[in-house]
Amino acid sequence: MHVVVAGGAGYIGSIVVRTLLREKYTVTVLDDLSHGNVWSLPKAARFVEGDIADPSAVQLAIHGEAHALMHFAAKIDVAESMRDPALYHSANVDKSLLLLSQIQMARVRYVVFSSTAAVYDPNTLQPLKEDAALEPVSVYGRTKLIVESALTELAKAGSLSYVALRYFNAAGASLEDGLGEAHPHETHLIPLTMRAVTTGSPLTIFGSDYPTPDGTCIRDYIDVRDLASAHLQALRYLERGGVSTAFNVGRGEGTSVRELLAMIEAVAGKPIPQAMGSRRQGDPSSLVADVQNIKRDLGWVARHSLQDTVESAWRWHTRSTSS
Ligand code: UDP
Repeated sequence: MHVVVAGGAGYIGSIVVRTLLREKYTVTVLDDLSHGNVWSLPKAARFVEGDIADPSAVQLAIHGEAHALMHFAAKIDVAESMRDPALYHSANVDKSLLLLSQIQMARVRYVVFSSTAAVYDPNTLQPLKEDAALEPVSVYGRTKLIVESALTELAKAGSLSYVALRYFNAAGASLEDGLGEAHPHETHLIPLTMRAVTTGSPLTIFGSDYPTPDGTCIRDYIDVRDLASAHLQALRYLERGGVSTAFNVGRGEGTSVRELLAMIEAVAGKPIPQAMGSRRQGDPSSLVADVQNIKRDLGWVARHSLQDTVESAWRWHTRSTSS
């Protein structure tokens, strides 16, 4: 069975590609390499270098017939989305709609879509259930919610069935695959902290006056290997005839910035040079997933502890900087 993975050269997509290959799916990666890494592509996957909005690239990727689309290709920098909303609507919404119209024409039945916890109103009760208020505070979150809505409409029209996976904070590395978090322009806490430890230039903690026990933001960090298995299980669910829906993917536990830094310090065995800064625009104080639905419907549970995730990130980061 042939799966087209749009954005399969990125951090999460590339690890999902390995997971699919191990499960004997035929995989084609469609990626324009604007954010992805060519070195993350395995030989066992076909690769089409191209834009998801380019019908000929999409048709080349589908190659006559595809069973499913996994759609990771998107811009993901929340702050950038606030500065340049048009860019995000064009990259994440317009291009996704063009991609979906092509896969509809090719009668691709199943879609697993990378959505985000940023679709929720963060001021509602935590942990967040899938039926919590959908009121994104960022343009990024809004663009993901619009694509979810489009998928809902396509599913109602009988064109396809889909699962939207609402990621909380993806973290860690797949050492087995030699893959970890390497964004060209890094904004995420864990890789920036690793960099601070190895370079000595301080990490800025964005805000210590949040209404949380230690004043720093709380997030639900989910291991990228668990995230990858959630994609596989979402596809299997669709293959079994599962109804189109959205699932949270998190560990269901919150960790503050300070708690996470303390764990990284213990794993690295070195102090983290750090500075206290002001709040970053658009950061909610707390985002924690309720994961009952994904457990119930997909049989998915997070297998990696946060300690394990931090260790994998540290080992991957120190290995990649020393090689
Ligand atoms: N954060 C921080 N300093 C940084 C980067 C992030 O204090 O240099 C905080 C950020 O405010 C948030 C948490 O770390 O509370 C996770 O941020 P990240 O950008 O990794 O993911 P997000 O939650 O924005 O998706």
